[in-house]
Amino acid sequence: MTKVYLIGAGPGAADLLTLRAARLLADKAEIVLADDLVSDEILALVRPEARVLKVGKRGGRPSTPQSFIHRLMVRYARRGKCVVRLKGGDPYVFGRGGEEVEALAEHGVAAEVVPGLTAGIAVPAAVGIPVTHRAYTHGVTLVTGTAGDGRSEPNWSGLARSGTTLVIYMGLGRLLSIVARLIAGGLPPDTPAAAIASGTLPSQRHVKGTLRDLPGRVAAAGLASPAIIVVGEVAALANADTDTADVPMQDLVACMHAA
Ligand code: SAH
Repeated sequence: MTKVYLIGAGPGAADLLTLRAARLLADKAEIVLADDLVSDEILALVRPEARVLKVGKRGGRPSTPQSFIHRLMVRYARRGKCVVRLKGGDPYVFGRGGEEVEALAEHGVAAEVVPGLTAGIAVPAAVGIPVTHRAYTHGVTLVTGTAGDGRSEPNWSGLARSGTTLVIYMGLGRLLSIVARLIAGGLPPDTPAAAIASGTLPSQRHVKGTLRDLPGRVAAAGLASPAIIVVGEVAALANADTDTADVPMQDLVACMHAA
């Protein structure tokens, strides 16, 4: 029985794949179980003989149950196939890689993780935001904006006091509530903030502003998932955004209420 490779595909652009990932896809993969977030440009690198199954898991849409993905991986591995589980970003950062390695181990199947560039670091960089910078912050916290599956909410007021850059994954749908909780937790409303959608892809767009006006800017620009939200002084270093830089505050507030 061969092992299953859990491969991080990075944030989107194919040339941000690791060499190890690109080689495994081009030379060894026989079965590829790919997430929704994996771009067509990356799937084009997979050996033509390989079978690619899309097992999308994007919030709000019908998705393949996690248990079914586990069963598929085990089934093909037992048949001696070289199975690749291909995920956006890094498999171990909000990628359920941990759960999948455990499920494989329960069935006696070995796994090898191939790290990928996580969106929370690579996507801010794509618009000029260093997630840490000695002049502005002691560190960075990667946090999910969606608790999901009955799990508890992140401790937003604790995060507001963390003194670190906050990088929020899967937060766009709950942006208003997250902003309200961070402000209630003591983060000044004029803290710099940015949102970047489809980072590193040709469709990449972003807005920058402050914590208070970010929801309005996101709505005015019509940004959609996948998006990363950055809150903290470093967000002020983002390149100028072309969508909302000149929109007056009252219009942003109107957009926010319309959204
Ligand atoms: N394992 C992935 C994260 C999966 S969770 C990683 O390490 O990057 C899915 C979330 O990742 C999305 O909701 C979004 O918040 C973020 N994301 C992934 N790709 C992105 C991209 N190209 N641009 C912006 N956000 C992205």
